[in-house]
Amino acid sequence: MAPQADDHGPRRTGFPRRRRELARADRVLPGLWRLRLPLPWSAVPHVNGWAITAGSGVVLVDTGIAEPGSLEQLDRALEQAGAGLEHVRLLVCTHAHPDHYGQAAAVARAAGCELWMHGAHGHVTARSADPEETLAARVDLVRAGGVPEHLVAAYEQDGRDARSPLGEIVLPDREIGTGDRVETDLGTFEVHETPGHAPSHVVLHEAERGLLISGDHLLGRISLYYDYGHTPDPVGEFLESLDRTGALDARLCLAGHGRPFRDVRAHVDGTRSRVGERLGRVAERLEQGAASPFECAAFLIGTEEPDPPLLGWALTETLCYLTHLEREGKARRSDGEGIGRWERT
Ligand SMILES: [Zn+2]
Ligand SMILES: [Zn+2]
Repeated sequence: MAPQADDHGPRRTGFPRRRRELARADRVLPGLWRLRLPLPWSAVPHVNGWAITAGSGVVLVDTGIAEPGSLEQLDRALEQAGAGLEHVRLLVCTHAHPDHYGQAAAVARAAGCELWMHGAHGHVTARSADPEETLAARVDLVRAGGVPEHLVAAYEQDGRDARSPLGEIVLPDREIGTGDRVETDLGTFEVHETPGHAPSHVVLHEAERGLLISGDHLLGRISLYYDYGHTPDPVGEFLESLDRTGALDARLCLAGHGRPFRDVRAHVDGTRSRVGERLGRVAERLEQGAASPFECAAFLIGTEEPDPPLLGWALTETLCYLTHLEREGKARRSDGEGIGRWERT
């Protein structure tokens, strides 16, 4: 998959690229390190992996992206945590997006460890087989969403220019889901399925200390993204996942990006509110008359000339809101089965 806005936010913001940081490890608790792994996306400069001591080695949660030098970066961070790739006893990925799973094949090979990940990873693993076809499908979707032709052309060119950040595909040795357990020296982390951001998303919860490894399901700085087109209602699934996470009573959230944070319940509530606001905004646009997904997206983000990464992100997000509103009986497709025009019911 080409790097694109549709996983973690616009790659470009219009500002000069900041200097890339080097990977490093921050100790969060005795036996638990945050591995800050650099990303090539200026708006999202790093992703967090987590190293948790387990017997004679570590459990690694999430890998960082695959790009030249990235395995050395991960090894450098692990070294600061007192380990190395060879000490990884188990790799768990919170979801199959390239920044969390990109180096899974390389890590599993270097460490000789198993990969555990949710089985609904086809949203990434299946599309890696044919990048041309994947790009063509994305361009078709953008065009069907009513995006003006000059922006479609820019989007397609951006997709061609972008180097795919998805590394080698490796399938999980074990497909994990709710109730599975990951044993560490800090305690047992229980797996909870949290689809919405991605169909393959899981969080890991350690009840005694109240730790939640949340991937991209819950972030300190709320940022909403849903994979579109793989499940019936990503927004509905995300809201249900938030209910599940809220019920866990976690006290320290170790998120996929940014610093750990403590007020987990407030973040769950804040994220739910943000979804509600953005759903409301799309519904508001439809109140004004029938609209294409692009017109709704432009209304949502406040610009009719988004750059390609922002366009991909906003259109995908909007399509997920329209789908959710449709399922709630609040919107319908005014062109029958197509996604081209929508109206309020
Ligand atoms: Zn993600
Ligand atoms: Zn991410």
